[in-house]
Amino acid sequence: MQATKFIWQQGKLIPWQDATTHVLAHGLHYGSAVFEGIRFYKTKDDTAIFKLTEHVDRFFYSTKQLAMPMPYSKKQIFDAIVETVAANEVESGYIRPLAFYGYGWMKLVPDANTPVEIIIACWPWGKYIAQDAIDMATSSYIRIHPKSTVANAKISGHYVNSILAGLAIKNTPYHEALLLDAEGYVAEASSSNIFIVKNGALITPAVGTILEGVTRATVIEIAKHYGIALTETKFIRDEIYTADEAFLTGTAVEILPIKSLDDRIIGTGKVGPITKKINTIFQAIVHGEDPAFKQTLTHIPPKGANR
Ligand code: PMP
Repeated sequence: MQATKFIWQQGKLIPWQDATTHVLAHGLHYGSAVFEGIRFYKTKDDTAIFKLTEHVDRFFYSTKQLAMPMPYSKKQIFDAIVETVAANEVESGYIRPLAFYGYGWMKLVPDANTPVEIIIACWPWGKYIAQDAIDMATSSYIRIHPKSTVANAKISGHYVNSILAGLAIKNTPYHEALLLDAEGYVAEASSSNIFIVKNGALITPAVGTILEGVTRATVIEIAKHYGIALTETKFIRDEIYTADEAFLTGTAVEILPIKSLDDRIIGTGKVGPITKKINTIFQAIVHGEDPAFKQTLTHIPPKGANR
């Protein structure tokens, strides 16, 4: 990760290296933190953040599920994210807002003595996975169960599930893990959602156990706008083996074609036409080249403009 100049911490921008916290912060011990991952892109005229409102909404949804009293409003966090990107003068990259229970008292259940701390950082970030199409393996770990936690909140502690699935394929030929749910239906990858293509139509797991991705929602909007059939439904892993195409979606991975699952080549093993089409449209949207989706971008005022 390349350091940038400033991190927003508790209401103000401070030098990157000064943004620290106490080692007895509650969130560090119990995973009682929530976060977002947001991308910003270079457009023809400026830099723009993709779907900032949706990310701020999900951020607040997650904080609410952990009963975090938020010291800032949605508008203040939205503005702080814009300010952080503008101040760092990075053309494109990734933004990480994090809210965590801080240093107070070590009791497990947070109370009035457990403060909430918020930071926002951003840094330049290119491709998350170097490959143009990836090989996946079904994990022996299942996706976190919605009766064990709030599976659609982006809670830091949840990511131990993703980390374990990732560690299990480390030093293997596989680039990503596929997690099934407790009933054996396809859920998602370690930090992205999955789509398959069959007979020209898109299929993606219905909500329930998954994190409801902002990129997933964008693909659903693209399908609607450009007339591609799409169903949100439960399906099993065997449907992926016999799919014509498959891809992952996520802020980090964007639209990432899947070449194989469990050594079974999907379709022709090449990036298929629907995946290619969705990817082209997605890239046009995030770079401000699709007028139908221009409301998805929050433009950063150029340097020198009255911010
Ligand atoms: N699932 C999980 C578990 C994730 O961490 C992410 C990344 N936020 C996604 C799906 C994709 O969500 P989004 O498109 O909002 O990045």
